[in-house]
Amino acid sequence: MKITWLSHSCFELAESMKILVDPYISENPSAPKSVDELDPDLIAVTHGHADHLGDAEDIARRTGSPVLAVAEVAKYLDRQGVRSEGMNIGGTFGVGDVVVTMTRAIHSSDITLTDPPRCGGEAAGFVIDDRIRVYHAGDTALFSDMRLIGDLYRPDVALLPIGGRYTMGPREAAIATSWIRPHLVIPMHYNTWPRIRQDPLKFRDLVETLCDSEVVIMEVGDAVEC
Ligand code: ZN
Repeated sequence: MKITWLSHSCFELAESMKILVDPYISENPSAPKSVDELDPDLIAVTHGHADHLGDAEDIARRTGSPVLAVAEVAKYLDRQGVRSEGMNIGGTFGVGDVVVTMTRAIHSSDITLTDPPRCGGEAAGFVIDDRIRVYHAGDTALFSDMRLIGDLYRPDVALLPIGGRYTMGPREAAIATSWIRPHLVIPMHYNTWPRIRQDPLKFRDLVETLCDSEVVIMEVGDAVEC
């Protein structure tokens, strides 16, 4: 699988199909690509906040790719005339060789692209299984059921927020890594703006004291093969 970081919580996972998670591109000061260059087969959105739902609607309209999201966000997209696939926490969605499981996240989720904001249901994470299993935690606090996610789904790769303020910081994310026990862990949701400035090396050092997971610190636009 080729995993490309497009800044913030946005990743493209390419194996049997191209899955774009949390496409926050056009309003993101750190994003490397224009929205028009993205051509996913499936878009997965963890929650309704503008820095996650982002450009999902526009990309889905242009490409015809469905947007996978929690039921309330999917219903909102449906009403905008966008093809969506609603699901809920603990459920799975299969398409082709891909199985996506929605996991819980401790975070809020209103749809902030509308004025006034609309209810976006619960925030979530995903375990995406396309030969390699990738856990994208979404925006979340540390919670002890991350151990269960590690036990049940045995992710090869974990994508964890480390920005602090709105999500886990480096210390909590390092503890999460030791509970999930992925082969690779990639930090996300940091340094997009000054409010979530973090040193990813601090995260790496903490992980190294707790477990054997390899920390991969990516530059925006970088890809790893696994
Ligand atoms: Zn959020």
